[in-house]
Amino acid sequence: MKKFSFGLILFLILPAIIILSSPNDPISDETSFTFITEQDEPLDGTLYLQDLSLPIIDGKVLVNNSHIYYLDVSDNQLKLRSDISAEFERNNISLTLNIDLKNNISDQNTISVLIDSKEFEIDTFDQYRFASSTIKYRYEEKCSWVQSNRLEEAISILESETILNFRETSQEPDLYIHCYDYSVETDEGIRLGEGSPRFYESFSKTLINSSINLYARKDAVYCVNYPSTEIHEILHALNFGHLNDSKSILHPGIGGETCSELDKSIIECIETIYSNKKGCRGMKFIIN
Ligand SMILES: [Zn+2]
Repeated sequence: MKKFSFGLILFLILPAIIILSSPNDPISDETSFTFITEQDEPLDGTLYLQDLSLPIIDGKVLVNNSHIYYLDVSDNQLKLRSDISAEFERNNISLTLNIDLKNNISDQNTISVLIDSKEFEIDTFDQYRFASSTIKYRYEEKCSWVQSNRLEEAISILESETILNFRETSQEPDLYIHCYDYSVETDEGIRLGEGSPRFYESFSKTLINSSINLYARKDAVYCVNYPSTEIHEILHALNFGHLNDSKSILHPGIGGETCSELDKSIIECIETIYSNKKGCRGMKFIIN
């Protein structure tokens, strides 16, 4: 009899819980995290959120998004509840996740992280950087002709002017490229792109992966002769933050009518970071 009434209570309460927990907000249900090595081996460990630690089994863990995000009703913005970090049993690596919520949507339902354990044991860096100067990238959506053309142009400029190389991959990339066929309007105007590191390892200062978003250009003013926005977003993915200098490609207002080309000082700073030297001056970084 007790069991029956307990079941009955659940039966009556559950629909109410379901209705309460599915508000009309942009948070999708779950995020699936995958952690694998370059040899395709899954890494087991623990994923830490503010009030929760979840086992990573066979390289996978599924997290209910209510533990990751909340909708702040004061400004109607999606926010992260806390830092997300992960620790792995085999090689004592711990990572911290940086989720970019500027767009006010949690559109990353699957987050995969590729970990090259060999590189972790050897290198520690002064400034956050990718483990290798050859950066592997992957298109996550089909991009329009204009989007992919401009991105490839940005990549070839970065390859010819800096120490970096880029290689497209179908495997887990360092750089995820998302293309959208809509535009994003903000108070400052139409946003053409976004970029940021996602996973990084703080002991060795290694960027594990980053992503950039490219938006549609309908109704937007943009630089026709030079891929300023695309280079700007790739620089964010490389951990470069905005600069106050209105002539810099890292100025936040770039891409409308301001079409700066890649700064000499940024070229030199990339060279400094990727040859493991010190002395990048005048730069701001997203993660320090
Ligand atoms: Zn920016």
